[in-house]
This record gives sequence, C-alpha cells and structure tokens, in this order.
Amino acid sequence: MSTLHVFNSYTRQKEAFQPLVPGYVGMYVCGPTVSGESHLGHARPYITFDVIYRYLQHLGYKVRYVRNITDAGHFEEEGREAEDKIAKKATIERLEPMELVQKYTNLYHWAMNEFNNLPPSIEPTATGHIVEQIDMIQEIIRAGYAYEVNGSVYFDVTKYAQGHDYGKLSGRVLDDLLTTTRELEGQEEKRNKADFALWKAAPPEHIMRWNSPWGEGFPGWHIECSAMSTKYLGKSFDIHGGGMDLQFPHHESEIAQSTICNGCTPVRYWIHNNMITINGKKMGKSYNNVIKLTELFSGEHPLLEKPYSPMTVRFFILQTHYSSTLNFSNEALQAAEKGLKRLMEAYGWLQKGELQAASGQLQAGPQDALLAANCSKLVASLQEFMDDDFNTAKVLASLFELVPVINSLKDKSIAPEALGADLLQRLQSELKLYVEDILGLKSESVEDAGVLQGVLQVLIDIRREARARKDWATSDRIRNQLADAGILLKDEKDGSMSWTMK
Ligand code: ZN
Repeated sequence: MSTLHVFNSYTRQKEAFQPLVPGYVGMYVCGPTVSGESHLGHARPYITFDVIYRYLQHLGYKVRYVRNITDAGHFEEEGREAEDKIAKKATIERLEPMELVQKYTNLYHWAMNEFNNLPPSIEPTATGHIVEQIDMIQEIIRAGYAYEVNGSVYFDVTKYAQGHDYGKLSGRVLDDLLTTTRELEGQEEKRNKADFALWKAAPPEHIMRWNSPWGEGFPGWHIECSAMSTKYLGKSFDIHGGGMDLQFPHHESEIAQSTICNGCTPVRYWIHNNMITINGKKMGKSYNNVIKLTELFSGEHPLLEKPYSPMTVRFFILQTHYSSTLNFSNEALQAAEKGLKRLMEAYGWLQKGELQAASGQLQAGPQDALLAANCSKLVASLQEFMDDDFNTAKVLASLFELVPVINSLKDKSIAPEALGADLLQRLQSELKLYVEDILGLKSESVEDAGVLQGVLQVLIDIRREARARKDWATSDRIRNQLADAGILLKDEKDGSMSWTMK
C-alpha cells in the first residue's frame, strides 16, 4: 500500500502527508472575489481542491474544508491600491454592494454545482469577519510589526524580514522588492515600498466602511484569509491551497501576518495549482481572452467554436496534473469531450446489471492470466497515482487503458471468465470510486446533453418549418413552452437558431 505524498510549495519538496492531528485534516482554499463572474481560470483551483477534498475523505480523514468569499477588501491590483473592487463594481452596476456580492456569489455557487464540486464545510465571508480582522491587526501592532498612518495600518515587511524567512514561499527577494515595486497610491504613507496595508482609511466617497480603532475604513485583502483560517482551523493547520498567482503577495503576506499574530508557522503544506493559458497566451483582460464560465457553457465567446459542458471542462482540467500549466484550445476541449464520452460509456455499461448477472454465474472457466494481471495492476495503480501528489492525469490514463477491456467484455470478445469474478467485482467498485466519488465525473449530464441537443434540434426544425409557412401560432407555442421549461431559443443573425438554458 502506498501512502499519500504531496508537493509542498513552501519546501519545494514532495513530502509524506501527516496531518497535525491524526485522522483530521484542516484545509483552507482562497475563494473568489465576488465582484464579477468566475472565469475559466477560476475553475482550475476549485476543481483541483475539490478532488483533493474528496480523496482525503476517501482516505478516511475527517476534513474541515474552509473556502472563503472575498466580498470586501480586495483592492491590491493593477496599481490602484486603494480601490475596493466590490465598491467600484457596485458603483458601475448601480447596485448596493451587498446586492452585487449576492448576485455574483449566487452565480459562483451555480457554477460550482455545475462542476459537481462539493460545497466546503465552511464558507466564511470577509464582511462577516471584520471584528476578527481588526483583532488580528491590533495584535500585530502590539507585537511591533505594524504601524498606523492617517487612519491606515501597514505591515512592516522590512522589520519582519530581519528575523523571518520573508519570500521563502514565493521566491521573492526583499531587496529587489524594495527597489522594483511600482509607486502606488498611498505609497507615501508607507515606511518602505514592500509594506502592505492591513487596514485602509476610507475616503468620504467610499461606500463600504466599518468602524475601527483607527477610524472608518476597510480591511486589506490578505488579512481576511489569515483571520478566517485561524478562526476555523487554528493557529497552525494542515493544508492551504490556491492558484500559483496567489503566492505573492497574498500568501506571502498571510504567512507574515499569521506568524506574528499567532507566534507559529501557520501552514504545514502549501499546495498551489498552476495556471491555464488560452491558445498559448496568458489569460488577461489586456489579451481579451478571459472566458467566463457562463460563456464557456453557452459557447457565446468569440474564442469558442461551441459550448462545452461543465463535465467536459472538469475532465479537461483533471487530464493534466494540477502543478503543470494547462493550455486551453477548442481542439483540446473537443478531444476532452470525446474522451469523456468514451470513458463514461464504458463506465456506464460496467455499472449496469448485465455484467453482475454474468459474473454471478461464472463458471470456473479458462482465465486469461496475462490480461487479468494487467487489469489488476491498472486497478491498483489508481490509488498509487492519487497518493503520488493527486496525479489525476495518470489516474485517467489508467482508466483509459481499462476502457478497451470493458468494451471487449461488452461486445463479448472477452468472456467474464477470463478475468474471474473477484477481479470483475473490483473493477466495478474501484471504477465507481475513482470515476464518480473521487474525480467527481457524472455520466448523466453528457448523455443528457446529447439527447437534449437531439430533441431540441427536432423542435427547432419544426419551428423553422412553421415559420416558413407563416404558422406563427405553432412557432410561438414552441418558443413559449420551451421558455416555460427553462430553455431559451435565440434567432441568430445568419438565420440559424441557438438555445441556452435559463
Ligand atoms: Zn486568500
């Protein structure tokens, strides 16, 4: 039996996984900033950590999985330091900030559900933990590692770096940061360029504001994760996850804050997923290649040749190890779609009663020793690969090697006797475990989508014919009744018709 090993980004080594308290795992994953819709880049961490969560539970751990919602305070981006993303977007969309937050939180939950991601154990919000954040900031000030200027509080990075390993996680060197960091708003208040805000004084026009010992203001982005992970997982906990892009400054700052406030290293294993590129390019607003999840599922984006189902995207993401970059292209997604279909068809047949009935009355027939040994090895490899830093790519490769065996059983070119009853049973139960429970793949949506597509095409054709003979009653009836059922038909400019789920 193998044991779980994880690549720890902090030590840059693969280490045997040993939780702080035997039998229990505390895991914190940075959640979304709900100032806008989630995009393809967001899908990867949430699917990666969902599989990790599922696997840890399968290993028998009682896991507390905390994934936050950033609904205030995410203001350090693209040089506009004192601009809260939520407040800014609320002004643009003419919504109450909490209305905006609710809208995008709902959309995010919907997408997570579509991906078949399990909900976390606790999903705390930044605005629900202002008190804890203020307490933590006060503790850091008391310890002498933060200072107040004009109602804002900054963390003293230079002082921290004198006695601590600042930059160890992200590989940044403080001297470089001090000379290369860009001049940002509020810079003149800081003692050193590398210092970061724990609390910002709110200018009069700022709508999201709370009372604090330093006057009205709002918290920094980094402090929320330190405050909420400490509150729900303790001063030291097992796993902290997130995208690699969060290593600096977010996670580096979290380590500094928590270390000073709690007097110990906060995280035992840091796990970071790599990034998704789009047709070989980094994803970003400046490249005009950010694909929102709703666009991905509906196909409505100039870069998309067609819609891709949530399960196709999930499968596509799991086909590459989380620590490698993953390049999105229509070609790759369409290959994933085909691969998923092939796997789920074989899996679906395997789970049907047919084989069970056959294996129930297996004669002691001639076994194919070589085939059985190979099959048995592939089944055993599933756990070995998951234990090796959650290598879903290799798990899927093993599953694909089993597909032809299943298909041969299906078309009867291999008799069930060739494998024997025990192995057949293991094949069935292990595939259920890995395909459904651990990788979280669902067959229904793929088959349903195919069937639904076919049925809708029939209705679309009937409606087109009705319109051609000016039978508006039939045409309207089809459109209205489909709308009642949650499907919206849309006439395209080129005369064709598309549909989306409401
Ligand atoms: Zn975070």
